[in-house]
Amino acid sequence: MPPRFAEKKVPPYSFAKAVGSNLSLLALGLKYFVNPNRITLDYPKEYIKLRDTYRGFIILKKAKCIGCESCARICPAAAMKMIKLQIKDPKTGKPKLKKYPVINYQRCIFCGYCVDVCPVEALYHIPVHDVVYMNLEEMKWNLEQFQVEPKSPAVGEGAPVRYVFDPERGLVKVRVEEGGGK
Ligand code: SF4
Ligand code: SF4
Repeated sequence: MPPRFAEKKVPPYSFAKAVGSNLSLLALGLKYFVNPNRITLDYPKEYIKLRDTYRGFIILKKAKCIGCESCARICPAAAMKMIKLQIKDPKTGKPKLKKYPVINYQRCIFCGYCVDVCPVEALYHIPVHDVVYMNLEEMKWNLEQFQVEPKSPAVGEGAPVRYVFDPERGLVKVRVEEGGGK
């Protein structure tokens, strides 16, 4: 048996309603023409001030790392791998190999699993996401790079802004103090 649909009643055409709708749209257009709500980010003259808890670039505290490999194993994007480095055994004084992670930012999806799983808090996020690379190879960080926090090219140059919801105007862009606001 074919499915039955409820018949939808179309209201009769009302010239007054049509004119009213068009006028209200024109009034809305006029309102934003007079008082525009521009939210486009004028980067790098402006940049989004990220929260301190933002999951941005990940940095390694090498001295804390115990080489357990948990970060590389849990990574769902195969962005992290372990390398072996020859170090001096603090107990025996003899050379030995120790494992450390390195990261490929071509692949990282910033899920934060590696940071969460690390048993000794050797990895941490920084609230930076707009780092410039000249080519893809630069996105593969070696052990030295993995320990240095990259800088956003806009921070220090542009004005920090944030997007907030205004009940009257919707999404609006507001200036925030540099260093302020968590
Ligand atoms: S944040 Fe996620 S994708 Fe990036 S290296 Fe860590 S586990 Fe892998
Ligand atoms: S999970 Fe932590 S301790 Fe283990 S290898 Fe990764 S960074 Fe080092």
